[in-house]
Amino acid sequence: MKVRHLILILGDQLDPEHSALAAADASQDRILMIEAVSESTHVASHKQRTVLFLSAMRHYAQSLRDDGWQLDYHTLSNKVRSLSEGLSQSIERYRPDAVQLVQPGDWRVLQSLRDTCEAASCDLHELTDTHFYTTPDDFAAWARGRKQLTMEYFYREQRKRFGILMEAGQPAGGAWNFDKDNRKTFGKKGPGMLPAPQRFAPDETTRNVIADVEAWFPTNPGAMDNFGWPVTRAQALEALDDFITYRLADYGRYQDAMWQGEAFLYHALIASAMNLKLINPREAIDAAISAWQAEPERYPIAAVEGFVRQILGWREFIRGIYWQHMPDYKTLNHYGHDAPLPDWFWSGDTSMNCLRQSVTDTLQNAYAHHIQRLMVIGNYAVLAGLEPMAVCNWYLSVYVDAVEWVELPNTLGMALHGDGGIVGSKPYVASGAYINRMSNYCGDCRFSVSQRTGTNACPFNALYWDFMIRHRASLASSPRMRMVLKNIDRWDDDELAAIQAAANDHRQQ
Ligand code: FAD
Ligand code: SF4
Repeated sequence: MKVRHLILILGDQLDPEHSALAAADASQDRILMIEAVSESTHVASHKQRTVLFLSAMRHYAQSLRDDGWQLDYHTLSNKVRSLSEGLSQSIERYRPDAVQLVQPGDWRVLQSLRDTCEAASCDLHELTDTHFYTTPDDFAAWARGRKQLTMEYFYREQRKRFGILMEAGQPAGGAWNFDKDNRKTFGKKGPGMLPAPQRFAPDETTRNVIADVEAWFPTNPGAMDNFGWPVTRAQALEALDDFITYRLADYGRYQDAMWQGEAFLYHALIASAMNLKLINPREAIDAAISAWQAEPERYPIAAVEGFVRQILGWREFIRGIYWQHMPDYKTLNHYGHDAPLPDWFWSGDTSMNCLRQSVTDTLQNAYAHHIQRLMVIGNYAVLAGLEPMAVCNWYLSVYVDAVEWVELPNTLGMALHGDGGIVGSKPYVASGAYINRMSNYCGDCRFSVSQRTGTNACPFNALYWDFMIRHRASLASSPRMRMVLKNIDRWDDDELAAIQAAANDHRQQ
């Protein structure tokens, strides 16, 4: 059987406006979707992450069939080991004039599909991913000639270029950012009653996927009993609306705050839906801006700008970095860290309460919010000197929104500073005092956050100062770190030795 174009749609390309479909002809072209076993095993994917991808794929495939497309869909039971294997079987069967593929979110996948087409002597048409505001080429043009890529400048360009939150050429509200309004804590009283986020009970398709995932990947990490992520476009739009209605107003203010037992707080919970392309970033940004325009007294500009910055700024910047620097990016290890990942990353079984809570939330929900990812788990990983690729693979495994283009620069670059300053000019590291200020974790911890050394001292403290001592020379090049490093000058040799001994003791446990 001969077809004109074989359109390969990957699990994170469930876009209602998928570029290949716009120019496709249902009578001549055929769509291919593959539940490849290796995509859940090349890193041990959290069961909820696999359920999300496969359920969203099956729902999307059904909507394509309903729209009259010819579709080959391989479920896990077809035992297709890899995307490459599935594609080469289909090329052999249909002898297409060309394979059409929107640029994947993962360099590894792109290379393997290019190789597959080349080996089969079949043309591959790589289509631009129109889901994003900026293409990798746009980003490369912006980056050209700049010594340091700074998200803030990229973001301002984006605001101007797309006319977002701009008034007569100036930033709406009179400032480009409102960070000073956006770093609040919950104080001693805590967050009080929080709006429960919209969750989606598994329908029959999702229940079947849950059974398949349990059968195929019984030893993969994570719980599935509370699966509630949006798996269709309709659900994703509901999730966005739920965020805008009930959480956006407090989003900015409490963006960096943490609270024990509260996994979601005021966060949007839409990254997974956006990364699978069930919803478009323009829809998320438009929804927030419309809410602010309609009710400015209810939705502060600081909250709306904070949300827009994450999507128009960070999300696009991170993707630009990924495509600009892969594949070498993945090999970077600025500090030469090589400690193995502790076993408790897979169980949450540690006596450091902040880490116990953050890892347990992760394993339970396939989700932890940004500050748990950055300032608790990531902070620990860099201070403890964990091997960057082991850490990156963990992050890629355990989050429902994890796709390599966004996970890798966030982990290796932002959290670990393992790229030596490509994503950020200085490492995001902090002692226990920061965690104590931003959360209530320390109150329930067996360690004392105010002690630097001694058997009850918070391990973050010795690790933090030990990191400063070990990397003093390279850190001193950052003006913002010089102030911190001055503390070390005040301590005598005994104090410095005690800190280093405490850090080593912790690492050897
Ligand atoms: P919110 O905190 O409510 O933010 C709103 C939206 O902004 C998010 O949905 C997301 O699309 C976007 N956003 C915010 N921060 C970032 C950022 N730094 N990079 C890209 N987009 C951002 N995000 C992923 O989508 N996938 C990942 O695999 C991922 N891994 C991360 C690993 C580490 C170590 C760190 C520090 C951050 C990571 N992030 C990742 C970014 C961010 O933590 C998540 O996007 C966010 O926690 C998702 O939850 P939310 O939808 O409730 O987002
Ligand atoms: Fe975490 Fe230290 Fe606080 Fe314990 S005392 S919760 S280890 S920061």
